[in-house]
Amino acid sequence: MTSSHITIIGGGISGLATAWWLKKKGLSVTLFEQDAEVGGTMKTVRKDGWLIETGPNSALETTPLFKTLFADLGIENELVYANPAGKNRYILRNGTLHPLPMSPGKFLKSKLWSLPAKLRLLKEPFVGRAQREESIAEFVVRRLGREFLDYAINPFVAGIFAGSPEKLSVRAAFPKLYALEEKYGGLIRGQIKGARERKKRREVAKDRAQMFSFKNGMQTFPCALSRALGDAVRTSCAVERIGYNENEKSYTVQYSMDGAGRAHETNAIIFAVPASAAGRFVASFDDSLANIIQDIYYPPVTEVFVGYKKEQVKQTMDGFGFLIPEKEKRKILGAIWSSTLFEDRAPEGSVAITAFVGGSRQPENALKNDNELLSMVRDELQELMQINGGPVFTSITRWEKAIPQYHLGHLQIVEQMSKFEAEHPGLFLSGNYRGGISVSDCITQSEKVSDHVTKYLESQKIS
Ligand SMILES: Cc1cc2nc3c(=O)[nH]c(=O)nc-3n(C[C@H](O)[C@H](O)[C@H](O)COP(=O)(O)OP(=O)(O)OC[C@H]3O[C@@H](n4cnc5c(N)ncnc54)[C@H](O)[C@@H]3O)c2cc1C
Repeated sequence: MTSSHITIIGGGISGLATAWWLKKKGLSVTLFEQDAEVGGTMKTVRKDGWLIETGPNSALETTPLFKTLFADLGIENELVYANPAGKNRYILRNGTLHPLPMSPGKFLKSKLWSLPAKLRLLKEPFVGRAQREESIAEFVVRRLGREFLDYAINPFVAGIFAGSPEKLSVRAAFPKLYALEEKYGGLIRGQIKGARERKKRREVAKDRAQMFSFKNGMQTFPCALSRALGDAVRTSCAVERIGYNENEKSYTVQYSMDGAGRAHETNAIIFAVPASAAGRFVASFDDSLANIIQDIYYPPVTEVFVGYKKEQVKQTMDGFGFLIPEKEKRKILGAIWSSTLFEDRAPEGSVAITAFVGGSRQPENALKNDNELLSMVRDELQELMQINGGPVFTSITRWEKAIPQYHLGHLQIVEQMSKFEAEHPGLFLSGNYRGGISVSDCITQSEKVSDHVTKYLESQKIS
């Protein structure tokens, strides 16, 4: 039987980054990943001159931890920042793509919202604090009015969580937005005062943070972490069960490799897997928490990547892409203009577009067959971007369970996870179902969890 101080289950970005922080501290780590490749949802495919992201297309540099990691891994030269035009985003209203205004002057002229909706913003600083947990929809309607929910927040929630604003908890899913009210009494006031405090903490607000990827796509990052971790990473190893050894106060990780069952002895385990898998492991220790974690909803999302010859597309692709409010009743959630955002995503003379289908809004659409999906995306893009003819290249990535939804009550689930960790010393729950879904949230959380694990091992005098 092999052994290590710490075992991490899951070789997505959360597990890999946690493993790296721990290895840097000189601790012995083993990471098990069931797939043959690391990266989890963060994978990249290159084919015939096209670069296809299967999951995240970019990340936001909101934390200085990224720079530390890229320097540790020696991949600073691989890093690419998004085209400055990527700051432009479009939102569909009445069938037309409208630029999201980036200055007060443009906001006043914008046709995205009516005059009464704009005037309603003047009331925002005088709206009181919430008296109970609210959904993001309730929060926005109360502070900004219905039209901002429909034509700003609804499409963004679809773009970030592929989720429903009526169900997502503002406090759990958008903690920084919630904090503006909680801490400063309002969004406008908070924006101004919060900027000063972020500067002190060396943090960058999401709207100011630089968007990045790598020359060869997002999977560069997990692959570099895996290389740096060396033989600590064991791919094609699916963990099946966890057992506790009362006498040694240690855990046994049962996993399968090449069809054979094996065991690994460890002092601490981090479950950096999707919630359904984490729930299965937790079930050996706490049935009720296992059920709660397994119930966290992950809607299906399908990414449909399409390539066209430049001359086929009439729409000027001068931005990140566009998002579609539910009220517009379209069949896709939005699309990223991948070849505008980063160079070398499409062959010379071509453009690449990544459309998103499904989410909580229309889960049934994500599950359609390839032909139905392609014709749905082709028709929608043809109309919205005035495209002539069909795509010259297509690629479909399906996520049956894409992104965990932090619905109302999610923070109570997180509290129960903390209680579980206190009652089962040495077991840690981490990953995008707990501390935020974005890549930057996963990195911030990975460092925090590595600190908790280190403190735990120190308290047990294990080093
Ligand atoms: C379609 C899509 C688009 C996204 N776009 C963006 C974006 O543009 N920007 C952004 O910041 N974020 C984006 N996200 C979110 C972000 O990519 C994810 O939240 C993040 O990558 C999750 O990382 P993770 O390591 O927590 O989980 P995962 O990537 O899910 O990794 C978990 C790993 O655990 C492994 N595993 C599961 N069970 C076992 C087992 N029994 N034994 C061993 N291994 C196991 C899995 O194979 C997997 O590799 C997107 C997500 C999706 C799905």
